[in-house]
Amino acid sequence: MKNGEHKVFIISGPSRVGKEAITNSLLRKRSLNLKKVVTGTTRERRPSEIEGKHFYFFTTEEFMEKIKDGYFLEWAIYGAKYYGTPIQEIRGIQRSGKYALMNIEVHGAGQVARKLSDVVRIFIKPDSLLTLRKRMERAKFTKHQITDRLKTAKRELAESKKYDYIVVNRDGHLRQTIAEVSAIIKKESET
Ligand code: 5GP
Repeated sequence: MKNGEHKVFIISGPSRVGKEAITNSLLRKRSLNLKKVVTGTTRERRPSEIEGKHFYFFTTEEFMEKIKDGYFLEWAIYGAKYYGTPIQEIRGIQRSGKYALMNIEVHGAGQVARKLSDVVRIFIKPDSLLTLRKRMERAKFTKHQITDRLKTAKRELAESKKYDYIVVNRDGHLRQTIAEVSAIIKKESET
């Protein structure tokens, strides 16, 4: 068995930094052999999202039951909603011979790193908070949402020093960011 066989890759970063675009692009690169860990949440489904593909959507009561049943490897509260990683999702991916790719926030990432061995944490940073603010404005976030998410972003940036890698997603250079993250995953999965 190769050492890196069960590695789990975690991508974290503040809201609107580009995590979604980066993870989607990584998942399309067959040579990386990645599979996305579908997580659970109590937040509302967005119109573009599909149950079981983007998230498992639970009521708060269902989520609480699942916490009690030990269904989640980790869980966290983000924007007043619950998010959690079903342990079986990761195990299933590992059994299939692929590497698990997670897109989760910083507290959850810390819990996963403490509970599993072979976890590689990659933090995606914006070139500035102003870039994030502009993107949130373009995405029509409310003033309250922007203030709230920027406050969270500052806390998340402070946590980034605990990560194995920090990659800056410079505005307008998404392809370069994807190439950098791919190179990290390639290197880590070979060792
Ligand atoms: P969104 O609601 O915008 O899709 O996600 C909000 C945040 O929750 C993002 O930072 C995302 O990475 C994080 N997230 C998604 N699933 C999980 C999970 O299972 N656990 C944790 N800790 N964070 C998650």
